[in-house]
Amino acid sequence: MRFDTKVVRGGISPCPTTGAIVPPIYQSATFVLEEVGRDKGFDYTRSSNPTRQTLENALASVEGAAYCAAFASGMSAVDAVLRTLEAGDHVVCSDDVYGGVSRLYNTILARHGLSFTYVDSSFPDRVAEAIRPETKMVWIETPTNPLLKVSDVKALADVAHARNIPLAVDSTFATPALLRPLEWDADIVMHSTTKYLSGHNQIIGGAVLTNDASLQEKMRYQQKAIGAIPSPFDCWLAITGLKTLSLRMARHSSNAMAVAQFLSDHPKVKSVTYPGLESHPDHAVARQQMSAFSGMITFELTGGLEAGRTLMNSVRLCSLAESLGAVETMITHPATMTHVDVPADERRARGLTDSVVRLSVGIEDPQDIIDDLAMALELANEG
Ligand code: PLP
Repeated sequence: MRFDTKVVRGGISPCPTTGAIVPPIYQSATFVLEEVGRDKGFDYTRSSNPTRQTLENALASVEGAAYCAAFASGMSAVDAVLRTLEAGDHVVCSDDVYGGVSRLYNTILARHGLSFTYVDSSFPDRVAEAIRPETKMVWIETPTNPLLKVSDVKALADVAHARNIPLAVDSTFATPALLRPLEWDADIVMHSTTKYLSGHNQIIGGAVLTNDASLQEKMRYQQKAIGAIPSPFDCWLAITGLKTLSLRMARHSSNAMAVAQFLSDHPKVKSVTYPGLESHPDHAVARQQMSAFSGMITFELTGGLEAGRTLMNSVRLCSLAESLGAVETMITHPATMTHVDVPADERRARGLTDSVVRLSVGIEDPQDIIDDLAMALELANEG
């Protein structure tokens, strides 16, 4: 199957009992055994569930991975991967990760003996320099949230593998429609399925994908031992959303390009960051490893924080909301919303100023998004 076919059909077959083309929702906590010691492949939904299994098969097919494990959220998927490490281990991590990821690392996992060094992973030599004898994983996000830094997955896989360390990639912003990190030699792919993969702002979910059977065994064990698993209904919604991934990502990407160009030409806009623009410092790497540039844009206004605040409070079509990657265009203020728990000096060190505005461009008519932003920009001070 070619990619666009896999997105619709991969890992999914008609219900063997009824022929239903849409996989049924097995909303059942437990499964009746045929006799002591003999089940039909399922015993208890925390361990496994047929609807979750269908989602895992579909995601594995689309990512080109041998294995997938679905989790209750993107954060629980990150946590599951990090829990494979031992106290004393060290992780080199992209400096501009989602604020929830650095919050988990710095405030919870650090208390359990892990340590972290944050570096700009768009420079592979900085990652190489940060690796120590006790480093056991390189964790990157590409493009990053919210500054959209792009890392060269193949170059970083080479850096990590030279030291016998696995490379894990949070590929939430790119999705397998635009980037498949395992094809560039990454070892682990993680997604917040809350975002583009399900695509409709209906669920919270996560997934870990790999070709490594021993890692998959650990993910399965954690589903069972810890229980951060998605409900069958949420899995079903994710399966349904996934089927339009290719169409949505093409539209998110073309809409975002149009909006990025509009913003770049606007006199009240100081800077625009979008990996599809030639002005983006990592544009060449993005072009080489991604088939399009996704729907995320960040920008700053000449009027700074005050102008950004006016803009975010004035838009009508763009929804002022915390999430990203869904069909509706959403606008976010990272410093007070998604990244509020990143200490202010750390935010500034990574270039995340208080005036950065993040836009998750949806799949509406691009002119309506542009008209909405133009109306709100009229109201913003010039600075
Ligand atoms: N990774 C990235 C890049 C994210 O943007 C997010 C959430 O915004 C997460 C992980 C966490 O995902 P979730 O909100 O599904 O727990």
